[in-house]
Amino acid sequence: MKTDIQIAQEAEMLHIKEVAASIGIEEDDLEFYGKYKAKLSEELWDKIKDKEDGKLVLVTAINPTPAGEGKTTTTVGLGQAMAKLDKKALIALREPSLGPCFGIKGGAAGGGYAQVVPMEDLNLHFTGDFHAITSANNLLAAMLDNHIQQGNALRIDPRQVVWKRCLDMNDRVLRNIVVGLGNKMDGMVREDHFVITVASEIMAILCLADDLADLKRRLGRIIVAYNFDGDPVTAEDLQATGAMTALLKDAIKPNIIQTLEHTPALVHGGPFANIAHGCNSVRATKMALKISDITITEAGFGADLGAEKFLDIKCRKAGLKPDAVVLVATVRALKYNGGVAKSDLGEENLEALAKGIVNLEKHIENIQKYDVPVIVTLNSFVTDTDAENEYIRRFCEERGCEFALSEVWEKGGEGGIELAKKVLDTLENKESHFHPLYEDELTLKEKIEKISKEIYGARGVVYEPAAEKQLAKIEAMGFGSFPVCMAKNQYSLSDDAKKLGRPEDFDIHIREVYVSAGAGFVVALTGAVMTMPGLPKAPAANNIDVAEDGKIIGLF
Ligand code: ADP
Ligand code: MG
Repeated sequence: MKTDIQIAQEAEMLHIKEVAASIGIEEDDLEFYGKYKAKLSEELWDKIKDKEDGKLVLVTAINPTPAGEGKTTTTVGLGQAMAKLDKKALIALREPSLGPCFGIKGGAAGGGYAQVVPMEDLNLHFTGDFHAITSANNLLAAMLDNHIQQGNALRIDPRQVVWKRCLDMNDRVLRNIVVGLGNKMDGMVREDHFVITVASEIMAILCLADDLADLKRRLGRIIVAYNFDGDPVTAEDLQATGAMTALLKDAIKPNIIQTLEHTPALVHGGPFANIAHGCNSVRATKMALKISDITITEAGFGADLGAEKFLDIKCRKAGLKPDAVVLVATVRALKYNGGVAKSDLGEENLEALAKGIVNLEKHIENIQKYDVPVIVTLNSFVTDTDAENEYIRRFCEERGCEFALSEVWEKGGEGGIELAKKVLDTLENKESHFHPLYEDELTLKEKIEKISKEIYGARGVVYEPAAEKQLAKIEAMGFGSFPVCMAKNQYSLSDDAKKLGRPEDFDIHIREVYVSAGAGFVVALTGAVMTMPGLPKAPAANNIDVAEDGKIIGLF
């Protein structure tokens, strides 16, 4: 079996202008970054903005396991299959972060014969969006510390600085640091922290902003610190908004690349799916809806986090209406949820499958709460057996949702025809009556409870005293109408990563709450959330190299 990178490097790419032309984008509306990458110009938006929107399809999954689910692979493969059926489809994905790329996860370009290329570029520097975000984030940090140094007219309390520096790297030693050591001219000494770039609020802002003007407004609202009276100090107070916007002016434009089969894909933005909402940019999604008849997009982690936030944060805020949800499951992940060890997942085990399938059942029920049609797809692994596949097919059909086996990893678009047909059939015959899970008017606590009970299946919510105080303060500051962005582990529906399947009789524990005023949501942390990951004992970086012919090897 060839590795993902081998398959990707063997691909014969078309010039990106040809790929764009296949979906009606003219060369004049592209800003080229070499031959195979481009950004879509601002002028293009003006030309297409009054067109009718196409259909929107979200790809999400059951809870992730070490066995792998393949959301990106499915998203890319479904796009390729749509093209094979002569449909005008556009894939809309997130950009990968360097951290996981050199750590353990590998990239985010899909897998097997369902990938977007050039995968090395995408997984490394790409078009520089993450560098722009890192720079804007750190400009704000520098201006904040400089303000304190230069007399601190805003009376910023150095003990209550909440803005953190960022870097797109897994570097645990930067989690907690001291800045300003030295003499008087070296700044005010204070404790500081780094987060990974994808965890920066600026990443979330870039992904939720409608346009450059909205981006600017949101940047200005970022709360960087509190003053000695406990009142918020914003980026606008520091007069940092304009310069940050200048740094992000090109980063807000969506990037276009291609799949192994030359299907166009917009790849733009990449916020964390825990302390942020985990979807690609609103800008890219909206452009894709105007350009194509069917937009296929992916949300991070499992449906309890990714889909919930896509629906309750992104769709609510951007006024998007999804027409169908594709829920990805794998036989391996369901057996893992049924208690099978990772090393034994290759063997048929219908008993474990029956035990673990409750996880899929809960996610189906959850999507149905939003009144959007669901199609379950089984991302086929070569070790899966017919009996296992049939068991899952029957299970889904009994619950009134469509089912399709997907073999896109092995066969590319050809392996996704059954899925594409089911999706097309759903788009034509089943109506979406999408509505968010909760109303803006509910209190923050009511929102947290609704998500915990309805989506996670919790009995109740327990708040730590600090979280109670923070909630009261956030509502007093006027942010009570914001949606809630839950930060929970991705492996379990509960806040205990070890409780697999469909846990019952558990409470959700809210440890800390804060507002991301620029992004426009309130983050509720259920446990310790890693915003600056570390590298494992044997990082993937150990095996990455550049061969004599200049080719990158070992990316995964
Ligand atoms: P997700 O988007 O859910 O994180 P990806 O689509 O990125 O998952 O896939 C994760 C990894 O699993 C990739 O390396 C991919 O090659 C691999 N993978 C996905 N689907 C399959 C499959 N059907 N068989 C074997 N490997 C797969
Ligand atoms: Mg993915």
